[in-house]
Amino acid sequence: MKTWKKRTKAVHTGTRRSQYNEVSEAIFMTQGFVYDTAEDAEARFIKSGDDEFIYARYGNPTVAMFEDRIAALEGAEAGFATASGMAAVNGALSSMLRAGDHVVSARALFGSCLYILEEILTRYGVEVTFVDGTDLAAWKTAIRPDTKVVFFESISNPTLEVIDIEAVSKLAHAVDATVIIDNVFATPVYSDAIAQGADVVVYSATKHIDGQGRALGGVILGSREFIRGTVEPYMKHTGGSMSPFTAWVMLKGLETMDLRVRAQATTAQYLAENLEADGKLAQVIFPGLPSHAQNALTTAQMEAGGTVLSIDAGSQAAAFKLLNALEIWTISNNLGDAKSIATHPATTTHQRLSDDTKAMLGITPGLIRLSVGLEDSGDLLADLRAAIAVM
Ligand SMILES: *Cc1c(COP(=O)(O)O)cnc(C)c1O
Repeated sequence: MKTWKKRTKAVHTGTRRSQYNEVSEAIFMTQGFVYDTAEDAEARFIKSGDDEFIYARYGNPTVAMFEDRIAALEGAEAGFATASGMAAVNGALSSMLRAGDHVVSARALFGSCLYILEEILTRYGVEVTFVDGTDLAAWKTAIRPDTKVVFFESISNPTLEVIDIEAVSKLAHAVDATVIIDNVFATPVYSDAIAQGADVVVYSATKHIDGQGRALGGVILGSREFIRGTVEPYMKHTGGSMSPFTAWVMLKGLETMDLRVRAQATTAQYLAENLEADGKLAQVIFPGLPSHAQNALTTAQMEAGGTVLSIDAGSQAAAFKLLNALEIWTISNNLGDAKSIATHPATTTHQRLSDDTKAMLGITPGLIRLSVGLEDSGDLLADLRAAIAVM
């Protein structure tokens, strides 16, 4: 199994068959499990084996199938599935940090990630230093001998800065800090984050893993020691575990994720190239374009530019006109979905930030984030061009 490629693992790894030998994975929609005797119950509470379950908040066969499959795809020893991507980000950080610890984080983060680092962890006495994630010298200055955790999104939302996983991990490991990466935009398809140096990788499964906008979910991936020894006790007692039904949706999502994400990434590259060549927009931001500041790093680190591009319409009024003229693209705020989705970050996902912070992060009034779906690439381009023409 170790020699299986990702596409094979995505279909087969982790499968647990019941006595009926079903082909498609079963949904074990149960919170609890029966013990034959009181002694068996006692023994399981003292120490449960890999495939022995106690309570769905601790673990469940369908959830375990999803955890094993995504861990295999990422090249991680183990995983813990969570109720949402944010439960995963919070679980990875809060399970290992205590008062007095120091964290260095990239500043360009998903709004809720920023809230955990800026508002919650600091409330419990954790010190957080924010840096420009693309500036290696800034990481070097900020990481101290007592730094416990280094945190960043490998591709930032929504300005699509790409961070050098290998270089930042080296700086972190020099002081024995744990590298935790929110890897949503890179997806497990293009990610080699663990091979490149990450200790812990976190996903919002809500995005490409489901890929069809149905369910919230997340997962924390890392060494067996970290997942079983640090994450599991925190998650199982604080209650952010994934539901078996959600795990089944995500498990089936993993089977088609490679095909979906590669098709979406190809279309994203096509749209970015054409929109840039048209020259009608103030800016087209896509890691797969030679004009992107980290294009060389993108090519070295992830084999494609991803499934999301951002465009700048020049002003909020122009951005709104463009958005309202779209016929195929949906105005919403998910990403990685089969449906192409357009988001205006400054007034929605990143509304909470001050104007200064938005400006510093490059979240301009005209910025639109485009999550590319599975529709025909020519239709998507024609829809954008028609909307750009009236903006
Ligand atoms: C969506 C997202 C999250 C949060 O995931 P949920 O499943 O919505 O909780 C975290 N990080 C990034 C980069 C995201 O895009």
